[in-house]
Amino acid sequence: MATTSFTKKTLGAEAPEPAVTPPSPSNGTAFVKKPKLPSRKSRKRDIPEGLWTKCPKCGTMVFDKELDENLKVCLHCQHHFPIGARERIHSLVETCTFEEMDAAMTSVDVLSFTGVTSYTSKLASYQKATGLKDAVLTGICKMGRHRVALGVMDFSFLGGSMGSVVGEKLTRLIERATEKTLPLIIISTSGGARMYEGMFSLMQMAKTCAALAYHAKARLPYISVLTHPTTAGVMASYASVGDLIIAEPAAMIGFAGPRVIKDTTQAELPPGFQTAEFLLDHGLIDAIVPRTEMKPRLIEYLDYLTEGQGNDASSKSAA
Ligand SMILES: [Zn+2]
Repeated sequence: MATTSFTKKTLGAEAPEPAVTPPSPSNGTAFVKKPKLPSRKSRKRDIPEGLWTKCPKCGTMVFDKELDENLKVCLHCQHHFPIGARERIHSLVETCTFEEMDAAMTSVDVLSFTGVTSYTSKLASYQKATGLKDAVLTGICKMGRHRVALGVMDFSFLGGSMGSVVGEKLTRLIERATEKTLPLIIISTSGGARMYEGMFSLMQMAKTCAALAYHAKARLPYISVLTHPTTAGVMASYASVGDLIIAEPAAMIGFAGPRVIKDTTQAELPPGFQTAEFLLDHGLIDAIVPRTEMKPRLIEYLDYLTEGQGNDASSKSAA
């Protein structure tokens, strides 16, 4: 036992020695002549910068950078990927003209709602993940020569659900537009009212529509843009009462989901039910506009809608 442990110890001590000592001894030449291996392998891997995304519609792998440059629209089949509110604003307004309103407004957990997690912790995690305070951004901006009140929803924040903050921010935006005689554009994407706020979220439907009624009474235009998906409480309120209602291609638009309708009516639903194209055929929406053409088209509509109103005057009063 004692011997083995002794030998082991010696071996252990000897092992590192050759590596430390070789270069200097008198017969060192033998070592020096040994061809050394090229120290570092300097191989470059062919990994492209950025990532690729598989298009769910055509299955093509699309380079993320190209996708971003094309406003998240597939270059092969025109499939519209979801886009964040900030990116969308950036794609629509003149550079550095967006003055955000109520940027710090956040929801309060009035009902002390607790499901799997509490509403408060859910809000905190979504705020951290998205960098947004809630599911809508509002502000005054310039599009072409028009000063416009613009509200843009973001589906990545709790499914774009409408709680008291979404309702209040939009109402303030609409009221500001009425006060400053500005045209209004709201770009919607939403799963509906936010159930964590119960009745308070449902009350936003009436509140936003009341503010819109005053805006309409002042003979000011409101363009509602529906993007995938726009459903339930949002579709049943401000999203469906635009002077012009336009949609992005293939957007799902409706109130209840198709399964619920099918179960309730016990009838087969027609093909393409609740898509933008179906609703265009049936007269609910006025036009389908691809995202890449959205800005010039909206400016064109604003030109028409503000024609008789002396648009310059409206922009002066706002300035
Ligand atoms: Zn595609």
